[in-house]
Amino acid sequence: MEPGDEVEFYWRGARKKGVFIKEEGKYLIFKLENGYNVGFPKDEIENIKIISKRHVGKPKFHYKPEFREDLPLVGLAATGGTISARVDYITGAVTSEFTVEDLVNTFPEMREVARPKLKQISNIFSENMVPSLWKDIAREIYDLLKETEGVVVTHGTDTMHYTSSYLSFAIETGKPVVLTGAQRSSDRPSSDAAYNLISSLYVAGHSPLGGVFVCMHASSSDGRNAVHLGTRVRKMHTSRRDTFQSIGRDPVAFVDLEMRKGKIDRIDLEVLDPSFSRGDKLNLRNYVNENVGLVKYYPGMKREIFERFLFSHEGVIIEGTGFGHIREELIPIIEQATHSNVFVGITSQTIWGRTHPHVYSTAVRMAEAGAVFLEDMLPETAFAKLVWVMGFEKDLEKIKEHMLTNYAGEITERSGITWISSL
Ligand code: ASP
Repeated sequence: MEPGDEVEFYWRGARKKGVFIKEEGKYLIFKLENGYNVGFPKDEIENIKIISKRHVGKPKFHYKPEFREDLPLVGLAATGGTISARVDYITGAVTSEFTVEDLVNTFPEMREVARPKLKQISNIFSENMVPSLWKDIAREIYDLLKETEGVVVTHGTDTMHYTSSYLSFAIETGKPVVLTGAQRSSDRPSSDAAYNLISSLYVAGHSPLGGVFVCMHASSSDGRNAVHLGTRVRKMHTSRRDTFQSIGRDPVAFVDLEMRKGKIDRIDLEVLDPSFSRGDKLNLRNYVNENVGLVKYYPGMKREIFERFLFSHEGVIIEGTGFGHIREELIPIIEQATHSNVFVGITSQTIWGRTHPHVYSTAVRMAEAGAVFLEDMLPETAFAKLVWVMGFEKDLEKIKEHMLTNYAGEITERSGITWISSL
């Protein structure tokens, strides 16, 4: 019996049917008809019979680049994630192995909106993303932007908002850079990939926008996509298609898309915020300091852990409670750290709202200890920004100045305009 074989057997008198996955110690693991992966003790399995031999399910794609010359040239750079994944019917797991060419062949409708110039940057799930790879992505996008109308980057959704934040700082662009992904793999009929990909290509090729954006479903059904600002967006749900939400501001635009049987019937763009407009700027400011950390304060966090964390980095972003607090007992550690040249930035774990160094005495003391309250910057955005700033600046005062300069819409003028209840 080989992995992938369809089998039938008896276990404690009950008939079971499924696909053999692997042997693990005393167990044989099967994907059963109900879709679950279950292990059965070998010595309890009786009368096992192979119904059909292993079926290797990798779809065969033939990349035939036939594009309409009258459509805008758009970069399509793939980094991996569920949008590049398929269900592996041998192991039952989702693996990231669709190439960028496979994507084009799977969604031929995209040929009606743009002529994609393809680039495979990596093929990883985004939980495996690291800042040094952000740097490679920024460089590839910069090169693509020189010869295209805009660039779409396919990316895993888990850490897409970290990457979109870094790119917002690293690339100053008057053309759109649009990150997109999917919550369901591209080979599943329920996948959100097609709508996300086509809407993103439309924004990159045809919109009057410039800057770095995330374009994903605006609701749980197909048809409307939101274009979020890359520095004010966050993954807010583990599985919903509208997992990405703009925080503390509205989306920049919406795309309405109607598709039937692989044909686009209608595609429209509604721009809500024209301030991120197309232009000629193109600068690469690609700096990374990998010795920067992000930590969430929690009640009872151990002194030693906090101390170790601060002192093992050159700069740290803390997700404090409420307006940005930590336990008073830990404040002297911030003071020692800032005196040792460690940058300490404060954000809030409430996600919505603005940090404040004056409302409570705890915060006043944290600020006196040298902590920098980062307005309403999202924790992940503040982290990506510090990775960037500390890539070119070592002086604490100057780092503070950069961190509080609004480079890419990461700090809003006034928090609380939109709020979760309006989602
Ligand atoms: N874990 C996956 C990733 O971030 C999830 C996804 O792409 O939706 O790569």
